[in-house]
Amino acid sequence: MTDQVFTKKLYFKTLITLILFNSCGNFGQSQENLGKTPNFIIIFADDLGYGDLGTYGHPTIKTPYLDQMATEGQKWTNFYVGASVCTPSRAALLTGRLPVRSGMASDVKRVLFPNSKFGLPTSEITLAEQLKKVGYSTACIGKWHLGHKEEYLPTNNGFDYYFGIPYSNDMDFVGNRDEYREANGNLPTENFNVPLMRNTEIIERPADQNTITKRYTQETIAYIKKNKDNPFLIYLAHNLPHIPLFASKDFLGKSKRGIYGDVVAEIDHGVGQIIATLKEEGLDKNTIVVFTSDNGPWLSYGINGGSAGLLKAGKGMTWEGGMREPCIFWSPSNIAPAVVSELGTTMDLFTTFSALAGVPMPKDRVMDGYDLSVALFKNGPSPRNGVFYYRGTQLYAARLGGYKAHYITQGSYGQFGDKVVHNTPLLYNLNEDPSENFDIGAKHPEILADIDRLVKKHQSNLVKGKDQLADVE
Ligand code: MG
Repeated sequence: MTDQVFTKKLYFKTLITLILFNSCGNFGQSQENLGKTPNFIIIFADDLGYGDLGTYGHPTIKTPYLDQMATEGQKWTNFYVGASVCTPSRAALLTGRLPVRSGMASDVKRVLFPNSKFGLPTSEITLAEQLKKVGYSTACIGKWHLGHKEEYLPTNNGFDYYFGIPYSNDMDFVGNRDEYREANGNLPTENFNVPLMRNTEIIERPADQNTITKRYTQETIAYIKKNKDNPFLIYLAHNLPHIPLFASKDFLGKSKRGIYGDVVAEIDHGVGQIIATLKEEGLDKNTIVVFTSDNGPWLSYGINGGSAGLLKAGKGMTWEGGMREPCIFWSPSNIAPAVVSELGTTMDLFTTFSALAGVPMPKDRVMDGYDLSVALFKNGPSPRNGVFYYRGTQLYAARLGGYKAHYITQGSYGQFGDKVVHNTPLLYNLNEDPSENFDIGAKHPEILADIDRLVKKHQSNLVKGKDQLADVE
């Protein structure tokens, strides 16, 4: 049961699309080459901002492979995450549900920590569990951050294989906090006693973060080669460019953008190697690769944080910079190359990939995703017309079509001010004003009323899950 807020509108949109296709022929591409069980690779960067890729306008960060992926595929410009910080954003992507429903959002703690007691409830269905129903091989490579205890690890959440760190790369800090602040977080890898795990075993501690991006790429390539004869899902969740920043010696000191640019260039290089492997193995036609990020840039770290480009604010906030992300879909001969300004979210990946693999959606819970197939394969409209912006378990803002209303605004990490509840919500026309500079709330009560109806409908079936983040040991 997806939020059927604009069923009627959607019906007519779909009808018009179908008529157009029937009368004009197939002017997009199709997913026929994908077969019944396409492979899926989700590459998820950490704290990479909307403005941090060459193809999204960064003047000095070089990302030739992602730029090429965007040229050959689709670059989405209105693509969102389910939360503006790591844990709830990851829960949203993997469950296809707003984290407030699963309890993976909290008003006590924003993310999980090494002393957290709980994690993703076993009652949640992850995308990996969903695809396993039709025989996929599944790997999680990189940062998990949905519970570090064995029962919450990827291997107990539908993934056959796990290689990565169980929480953020700045945790388990050993050292001097003043030094940390002075270095804008960039202390040596030994200062972060983060474990590196293979399946349920710790194989290295502290994880050598200088080489971690390279090793995630190598693990991904090995998994592709090993599983080339059966369908697979690879969830490659890089733990960078989340601060502290590390790059291997081939990339260190090479970017004009400094260490942040080095890190992004190394991730980009890995993307190029993964795409090359798919081509070599003849898997490029029946694989979909999607690249996006879990939340906006961590601006309070100054020069070491990324950039949201022309969007306001960053990580931790419900301004656009916190939750709108770069997103590139790639599948040559299936996905019609385009720049897409339709609405999409990471939660739609669950729904879209389930549809492509022929797995029925769960019927016993509210799902928050939409099937983006018409947009991806036919250059048609996205069925999504709204976005909800949560901070913890509270709805702070909502978008309907091109308009966004802020009911509450609040800064994060000491920036962008205190919490303000807006009696007349702030209203922005994001198509005309993506930077959210010109509030038109007072002039357009009728638009605010429309958004209010969307919110009320959404809240009418909202059951908040038990907080999984608050309890520590
Ligand atoms: Mg993050």
